[in-house]
Amino acid sequence: MEFRSFLIKYAEIGTKGKNRYLFEDALIKQIKRALKEVEGHFVITKESGRIYVDAEGDYDYDEALDALKRVFGIVWICPMVQFEDRDYENIKKQIVAYMDQVYPDKHLTFKVNARRGDKSYPHMSEEINRDMGEVILNAFPETKVDVHHPDVMLHIEVRKKVNVYSLMIPGAGGMPVGTNGKAMLLLSGGIDSPVAGWMIAKRGVKIDAVYFHAPPYTSERAKQKVVDLAKLVARYSGPIALHVVNFTDIQLYIYEKCPHEELTIIMRRYMMRIAERIATETGCIGLITGESIGQVASQTMQSLLCTNEVCTLPVYRPLIGFDKQEIVDISEKIDTYETSVLPYEDCCTIFVAKHPVTKPSLDRIKRSERNLQEKIDEMVEEAIQTKETIWCD
Ligand code: ATP
Ligand code: MG
Repeated sequence: MEFRSFLIKYAEIGTKGKNRYLFEDALIKQIKRALKEVEGHFVITKESGRIYVDAEGDYDYDEALDALKRVFGIVWICPMVQFEDRDYENIKKQIVAYMDQVYPDKHLTFKVNARRGDKSYPHMSEEINRDMGEVILNAFPETKVDVHHPDVMLHIEVRKKVNVYSLMIPGAGGMPVGTNGKAMLLLSGGIDSPVAGWMIAKRGVKIDAVYFHAPPYTSERAKQKVVDLAKLVARYSGPIALHVVNFTDIQLYIYEKCPHEELTIIMRRYMMRIAERIATETGCIGLITGESIGQVASQTMQSLLCTNEVCTLPVYRPLIGFDKQEIVDISEKIDTYETSVLPYEDCCTIFVAKHPVTKPSLDRIKRSERNLQEKIDEMVEEAIQTKETIWCD
């Protein structure tokens, strides 16, 4: 069966009143964006509480479906057959052809669920159910009707045109990006932070990102890996402005002036400070990290207290309660895993102490940071001024 249309179903929650059109318009925008990279031309229309995607001319069904599966806010994607001739006999003919092509194996149970969107149509829903059921049973004697738990729920909607669908493919869920403000993701080359960004984007939040680069200790390839990860996340979230901050001088300065077992914590505090500055300058109202309690020394409760202390923006840590394997499972699902495990060093691993503190004291950390007084403000300023912004789409 050649499907040329998709019926897009989205959750009704959060779409009441005037929010509804905002939600729908954001969803349509995201659908358009996702389909831009698919071969073919698509027309998207909104009609009383639902969205249709129609392909015009040749198009790639699998690619279109994959693109739609990446759009947050969609609950179900229903490939649909649509025809204009509403003549009762024609509907019967079309239904038989549909069942024949979509279900090569006819050992199945089904139920017809007809809906008359146009109340002037001369056949009632119940009558359509009965007659179409009979037509299918006659054409395919192996089929059976099961009104409680059918294998196939065949929807027939008689509106200005007739819509027929029975396949329901799960969408990405969540809310359309653009319905919930913008946040700044601290994106490293690891497994966790791309997943964290994906999770927050799934709630309708637009994402920008910042990466702390430490050349020559971290290579161009390590940076390219982060750009690639940002592009992979952008397939779901829409374009990401990735700010690359040169962190080398700050890192060397901390290395020179502070106790080595506190390096990671102090370094993370400067990352948070700089990320927050760039966030507020670019209209972001939250920070996102890939932290999870206890994963490494810098993510114990005491360490998180220290890194959190430098920020006033809310810090979203969607992976906070996840085990590594649960994070890996998501990264595989969203296709970032393979890129994340490429073996290029990141700046956190270059300067790590053999025995980092696992229970840092905030007072001690603050005292150590006083050793940086002379030059650090200037260095932070310089790092922010010289950042390079890469558009990842
Ligand atoms: P990830 O897999 O995301 O790299 P991780 O397990 O390596 O995480 P850390 O290195 O402790 O954890 O980093 C914790 C969080 O801090 C990361 O998830 C990320 O949000 C942020 N982060 C760490 N290094 C960088 C960096 N170089 N640039 C931007 N953000 C970073
Ligand atoms: Mg890391």
